[in-house]
Amino acid sequence: MATFQNSLPDLTKPAPAGGPAIYVETYGCQMNVYDSQAISGVLEGAGYRLVDNELVADAVLLNTCSVREHAEHKVISRVGEIRHRRLDADLPPAVIGICGCMAERLGDDLRKGPRAVDLVVGVDNYDALPRLLGALVGPGIVGTTAKPGTTAKPGATVTGHRQDAHYVAPPDLYPTNGSHLVTIHKGCDYKCTYCIVPMTRGPQSEKAPEVILAEIGQIVAGGGREVTLLGQNVTAYRWQDSLDFAGLLEQVAAIDGLERIRFLTGHPRDMHRHLMDAIGRLDKVCPWLHVPAQSGSDAVLRRMKRLYTAAEYLDMVEYAQRVVPGVTFSSDFIVGFPGETDADFRATLDLVRRVKYDQIFSFKYSERPGVPAAKLADDVPLEAKKDRLAELMDVQQEIWTAAANAHVGAVVTAVCEGAARRPAGAIRLRTANNRKIVVTGMDVAPGAALTVRLTGWEGTTFFGEPVPA
Ligand code: SF4
Repeated sequence: MATFQNSLPDLTKPAPAGGPAIYVETYGCQMNVYDSQAISGVLEGAGYRLVDNELVADAVLLNTCSVREHAEHKVISRVGEIRHRRLDADLPPAVIGICGCMAERLGDDLRKGPRAVDLVVGVDNYDALPRLLGALVGPGIVGTTAKPGTTAKPGATVTGHRQDAHYVAPPDLYPTNGSHLVTIHKGCDYKCTYCIVPMTRGPQSEKAPEVILAEIGQIVAGGGREVTLLGQNVTAYRWQDSLDFAGLLEQVAAIDGLERIRFLTGHPRDMHRHLMDAIGRLDKVCPWLHVPAQSGSDAVLRRMKRLYTAAEYLDMVEYAQRVVPGVTFSSDFIVGFPGETDADFRATLDLVRRVKYDQIFSFKYSERPGVPAAKLADDVPLEAKKDRLAELMDVQQEIWTAAANAHVGAVVTAVCEGAARRPAGAIRLRTANNRKIVVTGMDVAPGAALTVRLTGWEGTTFFGEPVPA
């Protein structure tokens, strides 16, 4: 498995010996990162070899995201790029498959036209991949698939939602440093009007608690110490009306040897007080809450069908601050949603100023075909969207600058995640609050906890120095 990378592949590295070679490239969210690991596990279990670039692969699988139009365009141009790079390198064409959300949204259309691919496999059908790939890259037919601009060879489209399809990514396929991703459910029953997820990922369906606990047990047995519980809306987890997310956190926290639990993503509506009490009570649960607010205007929240008001959101934040020691927040925001007035936007700025997020991810609204909001007039001019986005980012920068400056000099505990990208020889650490720290002059193994003094910051990363024990 490999995530998308711009670096040139190392052609000097031979492909591992064995069955047909598969390169998996991941786009989008952490759910897709996990799914790519699961796809890799399914294929490796069926005798395929995983390789780390497209030029040594017999088949390339692009695990895709549909959240924004731009993400889809990127994948389509990548299909052309892969074909041309192989052509330039005098290699036969590879089979190309599109998996994930784009497969679900566009289906068979992806197998038509000049960028047609061979395989289209949706989020619940990865167990079909060994058979489908076997027909295309089986012995004797490797590399004989379509020339650019054609689909000369029969491929397949397999999409549609299945409640039973919960994949488990084998922990030994991914490194033991950092946080191990564990999906606890899939899909979403909310109907936020801007969101494509209910369409691409289907209705919410839970992974059984015993499967989740066994998966985490395996991770711990393999040396992992931290997990990130993943789902479109983990806080809505509910197993047969007998176990909710707070209960699941209790059970996960009881696993011996596991040290830290993070989770993504929470919905404000499901941040019940007893859940926040559990987060505050359970030492292993990290006090960092990513709870997307999307807007600070009740009128916009209503049109988004977010099912809470700004006051309810702030009440949730205030309660969490009371019961979860040292809690910090991050959030997503959409600016320029249909009908958003300047006063609505000011309400968003007000909410951002009041919560004082560590980090926000903000986007200009752009229409997605098929979602309920597509029926609303996209009436905020592009210039206004750009101005609002810039102003929101400026406000967040002010908030973060004040917070980051106030932290310089603090002594914190953080866990080593491995080598930092720069400077050379530095290590990167992460605190329970999800803050990144780069430390030079130390050589410790990933997973080790360190006490460091924060000496400065840049962007969202702190710099630190070790504090002698
Ligand atoms: S909660 Fe809303 S935004 Fe999140 S995945 Fe579900 S529908 Fe989409």
